[in-house]
Amino acid sequence: MISNSLVELDRQHLIHPLSSFRGHERDGVRVIQSAKGATLTDVMGHRLLDGFAGLWCVNAGYGQESIVEAAAEQMRRLPYATGYFDLGSEPAIRLASQLAERAPGDLDHVYFTLGGSDAVDSTVRFIRYYNHARGMPEKDQFISLAQGFHGSSTVGAGLTALPGFHAGFGVPFDWQHKISSHYVYRNPVGPDPDAIIAASLAELRAKVDELGAERVAAFYAEPIQGSGGVLVPPPGWMKAMAEACRELEILFVVDEVITGFGRTGPIFASSEEDIVPDFITVAKGLTSGYAPLGAVLMADHVYQVIAEGAGDGLIGHGYTYSGHPVSAAVGLEVLRLYDDGLLENGRRAGERLMAGLHGLADHPLVGDVRGRGMLAAVELVTDKAAKTPLPAASQPSKRIFDRAYRNGLIIRAFGNGGLGFAPPLCCSLGEIDEMVERARRVLDETLDDPDIRAAM
Ligand code: PMP
Repeated sequence: MISNSLVELDRQHLIHPLSSFRGHERDGVRVIQSAKGATLTDVMGHRLLDGFAGLWCVNAGYGQESIVEAAAEQMRRLPYATGYFDLGSEPAIRLASQLAERAPGDLDHVYFTLGGSDAVDSTVRFIRYYNHARGMPEKDQFISLAQGFHGSSTVGAGLTALPGFHAGFGVPFDWQHKISSHYVYRNPVGPDPDAIIAASLAELRAKVDELGAERVAAFYAEPIQGSGGVLVPPPGWMKAMAEACRELEILFVVDEVITGFGRTGPIFASSEEDIVPDFITVAKGLTSGYAPLGAVLMADHVYQVIAEGAGDGLIGHGYTYSGHPVSAAVGLEVLRLYDDGLLENGRRAGERLMAGLHGLADHPLVGDVRGRGMLAAVELVTDKAAKTPLPAASQPSKRIFDRAYRNGLIIRAFGNGGLGFAPPLCCSLGEIDEMVERARRVLDETLDDPDIRAAM
């Protein structure tokens, strides 16, 4: 009864993110009631392994008492303090300093947001301000990658390259440009890493030439493209792009909202290629999803120009909840957990996950298995040689998600027929094996789908 009335209230009043309003009215909500470790329980009592850590965020897993305590203790002592008027709170200061300490190179300055989209927005604001301060206001064109995701705010959605985030929303703006992704499995130049890197470099240079180097402000990339389908660039790709940006005198913004905090192994995935970008954006794993928080890490050379440009004038960019003490206290405790074995456990579990998923490669529907650490995807096709995506008629995103749910597994089901994995880093090897086993069942059931059969 309780769940029925909740479903009805939800239908009538709650707008869900990234949903079909009509589809949701028809299908209703599945209410998640509680969770512990990597296991969710819904109101019907079904237990599910969360192979997606909520939305690539609950890295520490659910029910971590020390995080709950950190939040409660901070709420009791000081639930809110503004950063305006030169005020501040201890957790925000300590968290900024710990992030700066762990960040590569001179990324010494931290601006807190509520999540990833407003972190990306903040980089755009800061970069425009920086170029104004340098007397180069015409340097206001931004480039990002096809299949990239940089948020769902208006500016962020324009940098995002997924069509569903553009259609009907009036974005991208005419100052937001795209170049092709490295997408190894479907790259027109083939899978050779050197050829892919050369093609990306050539395209970036051509785009900068077309727009005029004096007009291009920045290039944005994720170390692994997450929402675009977990697309892993060839080794050396990020470093090559970072060097090209420096040479072309454009800023390099690395969006680590998904890849940060152990998802691929280290705290920052950029460090795997020894890159020092001009900005890093983070969110999600920063608090492990226990409280909303994002951050912009800004290089000192950018910070100094902005600071000089403004002098004693106020820089008009500020959110009410920037540096929220409760979120920051949660972030501090989550960082402690990473150091206290969570990153290490995630590395072990990540090796197991990748090995397990590679074991699915012999399945008739599996075209590609890719990923790094606890971030992975399996891309499905109806014809391996021709790499034919699943037919739209088979509603891959919805039906695959539903099959996984019925098998007690949460995954991300991509629109063209891909299964995305980002389990909590606290998973045991047994839980990882179970996720892979359940995923195999999902593949078998997908193979039995008449709409798939018809396409094979
Ligand atoms: N950047 C990247 C790379 C992301 O994956 C996301 C969210 N999935 C965002 C930005 C936006 O973050 P948020 O949803 O917290 O606004």
